[in-house]
Amino acid sequence: MTAIDSTRLKMMFDTIAATIEADKDRLCQLDGVIGDADHGIAMALGFNAARDAVAALDLAASEPTALLNTAAKSFLNAVGASSGPLYATAFMRAAAAVKGKATLAEEDVIAMFTAMAQGIKDRGKAVPGEKTMVDAWQPAAEAAGAAHDAGKSLAESLAAALAAAERGAAATKEMIAAKGRSSRLGERSLGHIDPGAASAVTVIGAIRSSLG
Ligand code: ADP
Ligand code: MG
Repeated sequence: MTAIDSTRLKMMFDTIAATIEADKDRLCQLDGVIGDADHGIAMALGFNAARDAVAALDLAASEPTALLNTAAKSFLNAVGASSGPLYATAFMRAAAAVKGKATLAEEDVIAMFTAMAQGIKDRGKAVPGEKTMVDAWQPAAEAAGAAHDAGKSLAESLAAALAAAERGAAATKEMIAAKGRSSRLGERSLGHIDPGAASAVTVIGAIRSSLG
């Protein structure tokens, strides 16, 4: 069991930014179908800004809480789309969940991950079934918590989270959007994957590969 420190969290932001950048065009295409085609751009701007802000920190003097708050602030400042305040809140809640800790044990990473999902829910006021990123984040957090409670390792718990996020994102195809820009389409949103749920899978996959 390896403890996660600020250096590992910085690596996590490097990985998320690189993975989202590679996925940018697909996310814009998904958003082009039921939104305004900017989701990949918004996510790339946000995570590139978070990566750069975190890279500018003195990691030896920055605890995980300070690092995560820096990421939150830079993400919010960089992104004008709805995903800006949603991910900024996720990282602010992640910061609060690990307050006072220089290194994170497995249970702290699970708490951080769960806090991110809760932050997105609280900020956007979406519930599962409304065809948003919550349809990926909430089952992912539940799966991570359940796996951890059942005695699974962090790697196994984050793998379970990723599998649940993938299933949740796929299920958005059969949902009618009830929150955000695509809710204006009503039934015409049926048959298409929600871009925010798709990018949540990418983000969660990057978290798993860097912390698991
Ligand atoms: P915008 O719609 O402002 O262009 P983005 O394209 O960056 O923003 O993000 C769109 C995604 O944001 C949607 O696919 C959906 O997953 C997510 N989203 C929108 N509104 C909400 C909400 N209230 N709660 C949770 N997620 C939301
Ligand atoms: Mg958009």
